[in-house]
Amino acid sequence: MNLQTFNPQQETTDEIAKDVRHTLQSIGEDPDREGLLRTPARVGEAFQYLTKGYNEDPDAILRSALFEEDYRQMVIVKDIEFYSLCEHHLLPFFGKAHVAYIPNGKITGLSKIARIVDVYARRLQVQERMTTQIKECIERTLQPLGVIVVIEAQHLCMQMRGVGKLNSFTTTSDFTGAFNRQETRNEFLNLIKK
Ligand SMILES: [Zn+2]
Repeated sequence: MNLQTFNPQQETTDEIAKDVRHTLQSIGEDPDREGLLRTPARVGEAFQYLTKGYNEDPDAILRSALFEEDYRQMVIVKDIEFYSLCEHHLLPFFGKAHVAYIPNGKITGLSKIARIVDVYARRLQVQERMTTQIKECIERTLQPLGVIVVIEAQHLCMQMRGVGKLNSFTTTSDFTGAFNRQETRNEFLNLIKK
């Protein structure tokens, strides 16, 4: 956890801590035993960090590094590591996002693509919606000739509960514009495999 750039709100920490203390009691634990004393506050801080994407504006992040450029080839950012929480169980799902777009006069900083993946991941999510939100954000801000987003992830809510095979990956994709052509999609899929 990068605490240097993150300031949890004390008021929110206290609110969550109260609930966590109650949860600990509900499962038959003693929240006053030594190992658990600071746990409610820690969970309060951790949850604010893990959901900090609600307070960030992904469109603004892309617009903050927008450049006019007459480049019309595929721009690919692959293997963007992310960590998110499934909204059904509040358990982690994590993996890699691969993003490509074909500019139509405007490009953005490559690191900004990774940033917006992080912003959407730091909210309660389902993998399918996160995939589409990243695609739509790039569409809205860059108005490119096409965008594709592929996400491969492992879901602890499946693995820990014994649903499905251990280490199985869920892959989602969403695309638009030029990527409706199978040939363009294949070019991208070949490039992310390497
Ligand atoms: Zn889940």
